[in-house]
Amino acid sequence: MEAEALIEVRFDDSFARAFPELCEPWQAEPSPDPRLLVLNRDLATQLGFDPGALEGPEGVAFLVGAAIPAGVQPVAQAYAGHQFGGFAPRLGDGRALLIGEVVDQEGGRRDIHLKGSGRTPFARGGDGRAAVGPMLREYVISEAMHALGIPTTRSLAVVTTGAQVTRERLLPGAVLTRVAASHIRVGTFQYAALQRDPALVQRLADHVIARHHPQAVESENPYVELLRSVIDVQASLVARWMAVGFVHGVMNTDNTTISGETIDYGPCAFMDAFDPATVFSSIDHGGRYAYGNQSQIAQWNLARLAETLLPLIAADPEEAVERATEVLHTFAGNYREHWGTTVRAKLGLRDRHDDELLLADDLLLADDLLAMLHQQQVDLTSAFRQLSSLVRGDARPARVLFGDPAPFDAWVDRYRTRLAMQAADPAVVAAEMDRVNPLYIPRNHRVEEALDAATAGDLDPFRRLVDVVSQPFDERPGLEGYAVPAPHGGRPYRTFCGT
Ligand code: AMP
Ligand code: MG
Repeated sequence: MEAEALIEVRFDDSFARAFPELCEPWQAEPSPDPRLLVLNRDLATQLGFDPGALEGPEGVAFLVGAAIPAGVQPVAQAYAGHQFGGFAPRLGDGRALLIGEVVDQEGGRRDIHLKGSGRTPFARGGDGRAAVGPMLREYVISEAMHALGIPTTRSLAVVTTGAQVTRERLLPGAVLTRVAASHIRVGTFQYAALQRDPALVQRLADHVIARHHPQAVESENPYVELLRSVIDVQASLVARWMAVGFVHGVMNTDNTTISGETIDYGPCAFMDAFDPATVFSSIDHGGRYAYGNQSQIAQWNLARLAETLLPLIAADPEEAVERATEVLHTFAGNYREHWGTTVRAKLGLRDRHDDELLLADDLLLADDLLAMLHQQQVDLTSAFRQLSSLVRGDARPARVLFGDPAPFDAWVDRYRTRLAMQAADPAVVAAEMDRVNPLYIPRNHRVEEALDAATAGDLDPFRRLVDVVSQPFDERPGLEGYAVPAPHGGRPYRTFCGT
């Protein structure tokens, strides 16, 4: 069946056509009783879809892969990956399909991808399915990330399939329709490199240069420049995660995009009380992907990308390693710069990029604040949000977050001295801080509550949560309960709530 209602949107399948070696033509398993649970109408409109058409039977058939747009061949993509450091040469989309690319008026492409659409040739022991809870979880967290200004895949829709999924118990099955700049990962390059065909890796590199890093083409060595550019977007991405307390949880190389978008929301979560050792994933026993390790892990993953590019970087292997290593060494400084920009904005400190000493001082100021949050188990999100009150002249809303306010008071003296060095109007600075320090993040207990209700058939809490986190910076009356961590976990905040 072709999706006639979608005829206005221009589809293509450039990846499937260009890389038959990296995918398997496939189709979705039929859904016995597909029902639309949630549709992202804004995103649908941005992509050129008519949201009303997507809500109708043909639209829903498209969203679960039963109706395919004319002229595209859905595929399961192949990739390899280092999972918790161990190499798996053949992972691939075990329960996902790339339907094709929506092409916008400027020629930009966005993948339309299904997750939970049935077993594929890469399924190994898996059932190819997804339960409704985890798909709604990806929906709400990816939309929250987008609203926070963090590069991410987006969620277009979640449709229940009518089939049951066997996990610890039977759960309703669902398909998530996901949108991404592309689904090309470090693991895609690792898979391509294993095919022992340098021409394949080169074609893949040229494809991602054209699609995601076009400025690299101008460079004296486009493949060195590609590596540099992926390092830059990944360093920037992880700095932004760190700024909001996001723990990805499965930073395997197959979950690291070339575009620099966050991908694959599994055991991820936002921390409440600040602690660099925070791990949410039940399977991450060693804490490999703990909050505080994320920048180092990103660098490790980028080294795996670099290895695949070596034959393109230089014909002489020694020279190739030397050039790649030199670029990889830029990660730390690059990350520091992105983190510096991000944390300065959070503190309302105006950038003075030329002044390295001042940057070092500002980073120390930020580190000392974070160390205090850690020592006193203070909520990261609340602490940064309340700093704008301090800049407006009232330190109390931040101060009450600290069980022992003495170290905070000493820190505030330093902070005020630093603020006094800039001529900016405090009211303007405070307003800017409120545009970067969110009030509402998808708090774990709120997410769980919404998913439990949705799994039992009540979507209201989920819809409300999506609405709240889609405007994370705007204080709205009645939403106070969304701005604080779970009552049992965050003793300092209970005090604050009452004030
Ligand atoms: P993830 O941890 O979600 O990034 O998935 C890692 C690998 O396992 C990928 O190759 C997935 O396609 C595959 N996978 C995860 N869950 C399933 C499932 N239920 N059925 C088949 N493959 C799966
Ligand atoms: Mg994955």
